[in-house]
Amino acid sequence: MSSVSVDTQVVEQFDTVLASLRDEIGEAAFQSWLKPMTVRGVTEGSVRISVPTRFMKDWVIAHYVDRLGELWAKASSDIRDVEIFVQAEYGQPNPSSPITAAAVKMESPAFVDNQTSAAQVSTMPGAIKNATMKRSPLASAPPVIGSALEISAPLDTRFTFDNFVVGKSNEFAHAASLRVAEQPNAQFNPLFLYGGVGLGKTHLMHAIAWKIREEDPSRTVIYMSAEKFMYRFIRALREQNTVDFKDQFRNVDVLMIDDVQFISGKDSTQEEFFHTFNALVDQGRQIVISADKSPSDLEGMEERLKSRLNCGLVADLHATTYELRLGILLAKAERMNVEVPGKVMEFLAHKITSNVRELEGALNRVAAHSSLVGRDITLESVQDVLHDLIRAHDRRVTIEEIQKKVAAHFNIRTSDMHSARRARSVARPRQVAMYLAKQLTSRSLPEIGRKFGGRDHTTVMHAVKKVDELRERDPSFAEDVELLRRMLEG
Ligand code: ADP
Ligand code: MG
Repeated sequence: MSSVSVDTQVVEQFDTVLASLRDEIGEAAFQSWLKPMTVRGVTEGSVRISVPTRFMKDWVIAHYVDRLGELWAKASSDIRDVEIFVQAEYGQPNPSSPITAAAVKMESPAFVDNQTSAAQVSTMPGAIKNATMKRSPLASAPPVIGSALEISAPLDTRFTFDNFVVGKSNEFAHAASLRVAEQPNAQFNPLFLYGGVGLGKTHLMHAIAWKIREEDPSRTVIYMSAEKFMYRFIRALREQNTVDFKDQFRNVDVLMIDDVQFISGKDSTQEEFFHTFNALVDQGRQIVISADKSPSDLEGMEERLKSRLNCGLVADLHATTYELRLGILLAKAERMNVEVPGKVMEFLAHKITSNVRELEGALNRVAAHSSLVGRDITLESVQDVLHDLIRAHDRRVTIEEIQKKVAAHFNIRTSDMHSARRARSVARPRQVAMYLAKQLTSRSLPEIGRKFGGRDHTTVMHAVKKVDELRERDPSFAEDVELLRRMLEG
């Protein structure tokens, strides 16, 4: 299992670690993922292990490296971390040479990096989190290691079903993706996911790939961008080996092509895509496609390709809702282990509505800022840090908008802003809206009164006074009003 140049003590430790891990994860997963590993040596407290393919590297990092590190730290107090290499990239084993490849720390967002040939995880206390030990049910054989796996793009370890927050706008796409991942019989074929940028298409595709590989590592999954597909095809054309190109796809169980809108218009690539596609579907293989538009709306796409794409399951991801954005922020803050006050979360979910990527970016910025300056996250600091982002969403506020936002915030109907109802539950929000109308617009008191169901200007004046008073007395009310003001004003 290990090369002769490695110290026997290290080999013995490796055997001990593997034996424990084998008990924890079961024989099948052990055979698939851990048996093919080779220990290459130890340098400065760092164990280096090689695996045959990049895919296995990604997998081992995503699932086993934390636990490997923990077990190894138990077996020997000299060991601080474990690094996983792809054999071919590692080159000649030379245990005494320093590690030249860059290291990816798993504590930072665990990105599967194309350029990086080594990955590292610290075994220092505190760094070991979420050692995900999943049992792989099937698969008594090691995964197929062939050309198919090598042409697949690396998968982002964060893009799993576990990390995907489901809401109204994406529940159908999510359910369809999960079904495709769980059912090997290609019932919904092709699965076509579409939606605007940053709404989770790539995330879902990676999640499908992770899940399939987890349930049955013997199934070959290729995930690639349409651009890469095109690039490879064009290169094959130029080098006159389109036969090899086709061969790469022939034995694939699941083919996923991301962002096919980039294929539109390129005639020969479309043709090739169409043939590959048809051949795979005819053999009952699963295809998953994503695009920014529905099949029918894809411009420059051949009719027969469109209709073929349309005949599977088409699922769209809609613009996010407030609840989904809030859910994503909560999940992400928890994963990042940062304390973000509820009001700030609400503010972000209200303000950053464009897409999830921007929302995540905003949260990252806020968290980074707070950790750098060493101060808590507050509404104020967030406004400061994100002023450019928020400015971009800025407009002039109208009384109608104020009424709508305030009504939504207090869970009353917008029509109650104009109604004669005087119950506290509607009167108070109405007063807040009047107050904000006075603060945020240049309307006069009588004008504001008219917009609130023809009320007198003295009513508005009273509302302004009342809200000021309450703000003084009740800090939580003051915060509510402040939140609304910031939301409306930006
Ligand atoms: P798309 O491919 O549709 O442009 P991505 O899949 O790349 O979008 O998503 C953009 C970012 O938003 C990613 O970091 C992804 O993890 C995150 N994201 C999108 N939707 C969700 C969701 N429902 N739950 C958690 N994260 C999400
Ligand atoms: Mg994408």
